[in-house]
Parts: sequence; C-alpha cells; structure tokens
Amino acid sequence: MSRVYNFSAGPSTLPEWVLNKAASEMLDYEGSGQSVMEMSHRSKVYSSIIESCESLLREILSIPDNYKVLFLQGGASSQFAMVPLNIMNKNGKADFVLTGQWAKKAYAEAQKFGECNVVASSADKTFSYIPKLTPDMFSKDADYVHICYNNTIYGTRFHELPDVGDKPIVADMSSCILSEPMDVSKYGIIFAGAQKNMGPAGLTVVIIREDLIGNAREGTPTMFDYKTHAENGSMYNTPPTYAIYICKLVLDWIKNEVGGIEAMKKLNEEKAQMFYDYLDSSKMFKGTVVKEDRSLMNIPFVTGDEELDKKFVKEADAAGFVNLKGHRSVGGMRASIYNAMPKQGVIDLIAFMKEFEKNN
Ligand SMILES: *Cc1c(COP(=O)(O)O)cnc(C)c1O
Repeated sequence: MSRVYNFSAGPSTLPEWVLNKAASEMLDYEGSGQSVMEMSHRSKVYSSIIESCESLLREILSIPDNYKVLFLQGGASSQFAMVPLNIMNKNGKADFVLTGQWAKKAYAEAQKFGECNVVASSADKTFSYIPKLTPDMFSKDADYVHICYNNTIYGTRFHELPDVGDKPIVADMSSCILSEPMDVSKYGIIFAGAQKNMGPAGLTVVIIREDLIGNAREGTPTMFDYKTHAENGSMYNTPPTYAIYICKLVLDWIKNEVGGIEAMKKLNEEKAQMFYDYLDSSKMFKGTVVKEDRSLMNIPFVTGDEELDKKFVKEADAAGFVNLKGHRSVGGMRASIYNAMPKQGVIDLIAFMKEFEKNN
C-alpha cells in the first residue's frame, strides 16, 4: 500500500490513525456484530457514538452550556439559507463582510430573505486580504453579522473578531474549525461542513446559542428550522450516522493522539510557518496573500508563469503530492494543510519545491 500526500481543499486528507481504527471496526463495531454504517440510529450502541462525538467536541472547543451542537446534512451551503430563515427575523436585515466566494454565496442566498448590507469587501484585490473593520461600519439594526473566518479559496483568515456590538456573529468555519482554540461565547452561530477538518463529507456541524433557536420565520421547512434538530438531539430524521462516527474518531485523535487543541494549534502553526518561510525565501514561488492575513490552513502560491505552474502541478502529482492545483479563480497552486496533513508531508513538499526550483 502506498498513500499520497493529499493537499486537497476538501474533501481532504484524514488522519491515518482514524482510517485504521475505522478499518479495524468496519465489520464488527465493539462486539455489536455490525458495521456502524448498518446500525439503527436509534440503537443504544449508536446513541453512545453520537453522544461521545458531541461531548468530545464540547470538551475540545470548550463549548458553553448555553450552546447547542447540531449534526446536520446539506453542507455549509445549506446554512447560507438556514441562518437567515431562522434569525433574520427581527429587522429583516443582516451585515456581510465579503472576503471571498463563500461569503459572497452566503450574501447572495440571504438576499432572498431580507435586506443585506455589505460592510466591506476585499474583491478589489482578488480577496487577498481581510478588510479593516471598525464598529461604525456595521448597521445598528442588523439581526446578525456574517463572516467567513477562514477563506479556503483565497488563503486569508481573520485573526481577531470585529467589534459588532451585541449583534450575533455568524461564522462560517468550514475550513478552520478545530485548527486552534476559539472562544465560542463570542459567536451566535458557528457552522462547518465536516469535509475539511472534521471528517468525511455529508455532515455539517452547527454550534448555536440557545436564544437564537425557535425564531424561524413562517413557512420555514421543518428540516430548515434549528428548533427541529435542537429538540430532537439531531435525530428528527436519520442523521449522517457514519460521518458522525468518523468525526468522533477525528475528535478522539485530536484529544488523545495529538494531545488536545493547543497542541493541534502548535502543530498547525509549525507547518504553516515552514511553508510561508520557504515561500518568502524562494525566488520562484510566492504567496498571493498579504502577510498579516495569511491562513493557517490554505496556502495559495504562484510562480508568475502559468506554464510553469502547470508543469509544477503535474510533476508534483507524479511524485505523490496531489491536488495542488489552485482554485480556478486564483490560478497557480494551493496547498491545503489541514489538521490531518502530517508535518512530514509539508517537509517533503518543501524539499520537492526546492528541487523543482533548482531544475527550472
Ligand atoms: C467548502 C466550504 C463551503 C462549502 O461547503 P459545502 O459543505 O460543500 O456546502 C463553505 N464555506 C467554506 C468556508 C468552505 O471552505
């Protein structure tokens, strides 16, 4: 067996520890005589899986008691509609910071439900920075403020939260959740598609402050009302059972193999620092993002020559460094170095880039 280093933006690489554990439990989960995939979601054995997934997530992210954790489907993209349906109902208005395509999509979707105000945008420079935000830029009467905390495509991230007063912040954390500790109490809603840092595609995790539940507008489909899922322990209908199980294993891995969320952060910082240090010293490759807003997770870079970019991606692929092609809207390359990318993968990729630089 040989495994590649997979730098995909998502679905993305998973810890080998998790894959091995899942493989060893595939046919018979803890003496139940069944695969987790085959279990009734209402069985005792499955209940213990979803419960420990939630309690591990609460423990690792120190989620306060007045927040609910929901295990949903539909991807982060469904949250672009679910959020306004549920909480854009006092003044029918929301604020958006446009830092990339995912924020733009959330903005476009919310416009179907009310008045959407663009607080700031970094579209003028291909979203290569995070706009400076001051309290006066936000609407007084917005029902919430939407931000995309880590911009998967462009490789920028927020380093601090804007001061928005007492309006709830809704954060799309699809590509950075679990990469470092965070203060959940500063947010109204955090959501993430699992397929970047939490597990396989098919699971969407929502962390929501309780007072924001139960205010869905009339006509909201049952499945799009947070209350439905909060009141039923994410078991109103069949949840994505196997994806939740893998997420639980990923959380086990963070807690017991990595050593917790602080250790996870340290490892992520080491990997990103090595990569950025190399980009800053290279004569061929350069990063596309302003230094102070660089992402820990997604690193876009270019040579400045499209043909050379193509050659690099092709040769890297042949050498076992896959999915390095940049997003079509940025071009060049992008290395997504999520939690599960081992440090050795980054070390080896840098060595490969140095060699490529020497030969070209
Ligand atoms: C991948 C991604 C999405 C889209 O997620 P889906 O689960 O495919 O809907 C949304 N926002 C961000 C920041 C992402 O990285």
